[in-house]
Amino acid sequence: LASLFIVPTPIGNIQDISARALAVLQQVDLIAAEDTRHTAKLLNHYQISKPCFALHDHNEQQKSAGLIAKIQAGQSIALVSDAGTPLISDPGYHLVNDCRAAGVNIVPLPGPCAAITALSAAGLPSDRFSFEGFLPAKEKAKVDTLTALLEEPRTMIFYESPRRVLDTLEQIVKVMGPDRRVVVAREITKTFETIHGAGAAEMWQWLGEDENRRKGEIVLLIAGHKPDPHALPQAALQTLTLLVKELP
Ligand code: SAM
Repeated sequence: LASLFIVPTPIGNIQDISARALAVLQQVDLIAAEDTRHTAKLLNHYQISKPCFALHDHNEQQKSAGLIAKIQAGQSIALVSDAGTPLISDPGYHLVNDCRAAGVNIVPLPGPCAAITALSAAGLPSDRFSFEGFLPAKEKAKVDTLTALLEEPRTMIFYESPRRVLDTLEQIVKVMGPDRRVVVAREITKTFETIHGAGAAEMWQWLGEDENRRKGEIVLLIAGHKPDPHALPQAALQTLTLLVKELP
């Protein structure tokens, strides 16, 4: 049955690709890649020669009808991104949504994902978690997003840029307090892999001390909010604050 295969690729270490993923890349008629030059390196390494074409954020919506027509005509297509699992902060959502609507068979392969790999080693509760993707780049939007997550009880996972991570830690200290536990997982599966956990203020200092500690690719995790059993409910606090203002 001609299908759309969703194929995860390595997030750093080229060996992190499953035997089944390689077999699917060998078998399909076409590979839809986020960046064809990037994917060519992977294919060359595994001596796979297959027609590749670009499917990225800017052309995905307009390309999907043509791809669906190819699959309906009997060709199988593999969707890959530059690294990790397609659709996870990567292109593919529109294509998959359109394929589902058109009744095209979709076969997802399990494989590398930076968020899940970081969570598995972070030492933060992993029974429930919330994947938050990239924080907004602009300061106000970033602070608003963090404020909305202030009382989120689950472990939060973010993708972060090395240029912004120090500023993000500063905002976490301001919004969530200096003791909120955070973990920075950097360059996972690569030579300089580092996974470091600390309170937010301590992490801000640690990252600031040495530029090498914030280089490369980063997953940032924030421990969920733990309600203080002795604390007053938020509504009661607000009422008290209002009352205090009125008191002589
Ligand atoms: N689809 C990918 C996945 O499944 O993880 C994520 C793609 S997203 C555009 C790229 C971001 O993922 C990077 O900016 C970084 O935050 C994170 N990332 C990817 N590879 C990583 C690695 N080896 N170590 C740490 N973070 C990584």
